[in-house]
Amino acid sequence: MPATRTRKPSRKPKWQREIAKERIEILFRLAEKEFSSGMKDLANRYVNLARKIAMRYNVRVPAHLKRRFCKKCHAYLVPGVNARVRIRSKQKYVLITCLECGHKMRFPYVREKKENEEKLQA
Ligand SMILES: [Zn+2]
Repeated sequence: MPATRTRKPSRKPKWQREIAKERIEILFRLAEKEFSSGMKDLANRYVNLARKIAMRYNVRVPAHLKRRFCKKCHAYLVPGVNARVRIRSKQKYVLITCLECGHKMRFPYVREKKENEEKLQA
């Protein structure tokens, strides 16, 4: 074991990151399956695994999966079951309340505003 544990933000090769992304998707699919069959704890474990992979490989959890787990207690969330979803159309965000711990999360929804184009113009 090397004594120095320097944590350089070394980027993993692209192919590894691609695999990592795929695994995250798979883990969320498994979580969904387990959750629907009542295995909540197992679902949460898959979420945690997915988060760990995302961290280790420096990849982002895809946007559509970000709202599927609680940022605080990391529970797998299913709207209508253990999550309450409210849309604030005036403020343009989705409010998701985790019914496991009560944590509230806001997800702004931008209507397909080609972000990249905007950045180029700015
Ligand atoms: Zn929570």
